[in-house]
Amino acid sequence: MDALLLAWFAANGRDLPWRHTKDPYAILVSEVMLQQTQVDRVIPRYLAWLERWPTAQALAAASPADVIRAWQGLGYNRRALNLHRAARHVAEHGWPDDLTALPGVGRYTADAVASFALGHSVLPVDTNVRRVQERTGHAFGPESGQALMDLGATICLSRIPRCGVCPLAEACPSRGRRYEPLRKQSRFEGSFRQRRAQTLRLVSSSARPVGELDAEAVAALERDGLVKLNEGVVALPV
Ligand code: SF4
Repeated sequence: MDALLLAWFAANGRDLPWRHTKDPYAILVSEVMLQQTQVDRVIPRYLAWLERWPTAQALAAASPADVIRAWQGLGYNRRALNLHRAARHVAEHGWPDDLTALPGVGRYTADAVASFALGHSVLPVDTNVRRVQERTGHAFGPESGQALMDLGATICLSRIPRCGVCPLAEACPSRGRRYEPLRKQSRFEGSFRQRRAQTLRLVSSSARPVGELDAEAVAALERDGLVKLNEGVVALPV
């Protein structure tokens, strides 16, 4: 199955900017952005980020406030702070042997950096990869990582897989099946996440008296280190 998949990937793989580099910092930036944001939205933000902060050292020298501002619109802003902390760790101590020692880096992200940047023989398993593994019942090798991601993102879709154009269809026991959605996407409109995002946007444009802001959202942002409250004024951390 790996050979079929890799032949398909050679002709149909997505041309993504982070696939043109082996720089672990650039791969880390892309993977952290992709954790909860769609590929199309990540591409321009990734390119702008690397232009502004091309190395871990450059990002480490930035202020948290600038990093939080540059992350606006990508969502789940704690990722920005964790990426910044990770860059500071790398700038000071180098890359750790165990990449999960870096803030915000879990098993999948660590394996993705190890595989795509450092050439380690490991298969990073995200939701797309796990889905293809489960449906085909095949133990794919580490060299199939990016091909599996693309197959899961474009062909072996979660609800209605496109088996008719799948390179693995002949050997796949799940061919032709349909799947119920696992869970409804939680709504952003009217959610606490939205209130937090709105509050952070206001504070990002300028420091404000806490009385002008959503107090619950300020408290949650402060707990996460995304804002500081000082003498009744809420500001980004400097
Ligand atoms: S045949 Fe269908 S279920 Fe099997 S891997 Fe391909 S798209 Fe997924």
